[in-house]
Amino acid sequence: MPKITRRNFVNGSLLALGSTLLPSMGQRAMASLDPTYYPPSLTGLRGSHPGSNDAAHSRAWGQRADWGAVQSHDEHFDLVIIGAGLSGLAAARFYQQHHGTDKKILILDNHDDFGGHAKRNEHNIDGQRLIGYGGSQSLVEPLHASPVIQALFEDIGVDLKSLETSFDQGFYKRHNLGAVTYFNADTFGRDTLVKHPFCNYYNYIEGLPGAKVSDAAAVAQTPLSEAGKQQLLRVLNGGLHKLPVPEAEREAYSQTHAYFDYLKNTLGVDDPEVLHMARNSGLDWTSSGTELLTIAQAKRCGALGFAPLPVYDENNPYIYHYPDGNASVARALVKKLIPLVAAADTAEALVTARFDYSQLDLEGNPVRIRLNSTAVNVHHVGDPSSSDLVNVQYVQNGQAHEVSAKNVIMACYNMMIPHIVSDLPSHQAEALGQQMKSPVIYTTVGLRNWRAFKDMGIGMAMCPGNWHQAVLMDFPVSLGDYQYTQSPDDPCVIQMISCPYGETLGQSQAEQYKQARYTMLGRQFSDYEADIRIHLSGLLGAKHFNFDRDVASITVNRWAHGYAVAGPGDSVAVGRQPFGRITVANSDSASAADAIEAMMMGHRAVVELD
Ligand SMILES: Cc1cc2nc3c(=O)[nH]c(=O)nc-3n(C[C@H](O)[C@H](O)[C@H](O)COP(=O)(O)OP(=O)(O)OC[C@H]3O[C@@H](n4cnc5c(N)ncnc54)[C@H](O)[C@@H]3O)c2cc1C
Repeated sequence: MPKITRRNFVNGSLLALGSTLLPSMGQRAMASLDPTYYPPSLTGLRGSHPGSNDAAHSRAWGQRADWGAVQSHDEHFDLVIIGAGLSGLAAARFYQQHHGTDKKILILDNHDDFGGHAKRNEHNIDGQRLIGYGGSQSLVEPLHASPVIQALFEDIGVDLKSLETSFDQGFYKRHNLGAVTYFNADTFGRDTLVKHPFCNYYNYIEGLPGAKVSDAAAVAQTPLSEAGKQQLLRVLNGGLHKLPVPEAEREAYSQTHAYFDYLKNTLGVDDPEVLHMARNSGLDWTSSGTELLTIAQAKRCGALGFAPLPVYDENNPYIYHYPDGNASVARALVKKLIPLVAAADTAEALVTARFDYSQLDLEGNPVRIRLNSTAVNVHHVGDPSSSDLVNVQYVQNGQAHEVSAKNVIMACYNMMIPHIVSDLPSHQAEALGQQMKSPVIYTTVGLRNWRAFKDMGIGMAMCPGNWHQAVLMDFPVSLGDYQYTQSPDDPCVIQMISCPYGETLGQSQAEQYKQARYTMLGRQFSDYEADIRIHLSGLLGAKHFNFDRDVASITVNRWAHGYAVAGPGDSVAVGRQPFGRITVANSDSASAADAIEAMMMGHRAVVELD
């Protein structure tokens, strides 16, 4: 049986308690004007890069419906897909398989790159190109995937076998790198590094050793007050047997009582710093503070005080990773749909290939991908139940355009669909509007060397006091022509992960997401950079690290709408119903923040059109 995975833990779990940019220039214009158009190599604010959500936000928040005169292209497609993420790209390929490769397909996306969350980051470090991932990280338990996905992988050249050997699981042990906790001065009074992770999070990195010191020794090294140290040790030595109920009632009790009540009332924790550690110990298992968890949920995600658990199925380790994460799957799909976009054929060979973006939207190609284009209005011509035409309006560079299609697949964020599909029945619009996405940031930093990590024995640092709660070496994956760093004196990419919870303890998940989104979108790149400077300098120390000397590049991938989080009840199923000539895809419609599920939803959406 597959184990519950990190990103899907949150779904259905939190309800128990009841509570150098290319922003605006049209992609087609850009590609013809500037043959160097190549978004993966951009650094700075990426993910949902500045400008990418402007049209969608003014549609959703400002109810804007008018972008001036609409430029009609007289373009008619068999299928228009909204969203060039894995779900939309896979849907295009499935449509070809069902209806023929001569069918005309247009894929629209508001970003300057395709792939959606499956985002490639390239860092040029003193002339050396290093590849990292800015979002969708690894294929989760792909051996359990349905035959539909297995066949798709074969079709597009994704070879799971090659991924089984490309992840160097011995890397961390060989280099004596482990899981540590960094207590920053700002939150905890003084910068301190302790060789103990104090939670389960590190455990998803295959081959990364855990604590190097005992609980007692680790606690003694923390910068906590004496009372805080005693309390932390009590939490680490705690356990459900301490609950004030007979053994037979423990399980039921832990499913209905709050983790934070257990910490406070059963274990007597009132030290704000220990509670702060506990709150941040779930990271993207919970995507909000652990104060919203029941005791049973906290135990399952290995929050502070619970023993680390195996995260993935022992027969399906978490190693199915391309150097650019699942962006390689997106690239393999695009290559299949638009063969001239790159020279290589397999996903492995494509890892180092430079894509020719000017091929994406060429007249005469059966499949066209139009970037920087936000769909703002999709509606049937005539009665949806008998209509044979759908009009699609999108905004590119502030200008409204219109094309028509026989069918449309909405592979975009589901909660946005009611703002776009203007003739949707109200019960379906309401259901779609209840779907959420949690905010998350994946920052990649290009370092000139990783000597500091080596000297300090850091494979991953939990950072409960920082904006980025985890810092880790990029996964040790060498594939085809791409070689992972072998020497600490060579350049490397590190990953910094932030699940920006709202600051108000106990606020609902939705409120925490909203507050965190405002904060993350309100910050400029210089704010992030200043924060990362202080963070890495504190973590690695002046003896080992000099920010100006060692950091070559920073890419902050902000995902204000990140992991899919299902709405209540049957809202997912109701929301994704076909409507006339329109069907619904995206990982939201599977209620799973998962690449494979996203592609399966693309398949379902195509089948529903048949
Ligand atoms: C940081 C991060 C890490 C993740 N890591 C993993 C992982 O390791 N493994 C895993 O399986 N999953 C992971 N996920 C989950 C991820 O969501 C899925 O893997 C998958 O990439 C989702 O694909 P999708 O096509 O459903 O959605 P998306 O990738 O979100 O694609 C939808 C696209 O539609 C676009 N769009 C939205 N509205 C419009 C509009 N009006 N007009 C035009 N375009 C629009 C969006 O901007 C986006 O580009 C991660 C997600 C994030 C955010």
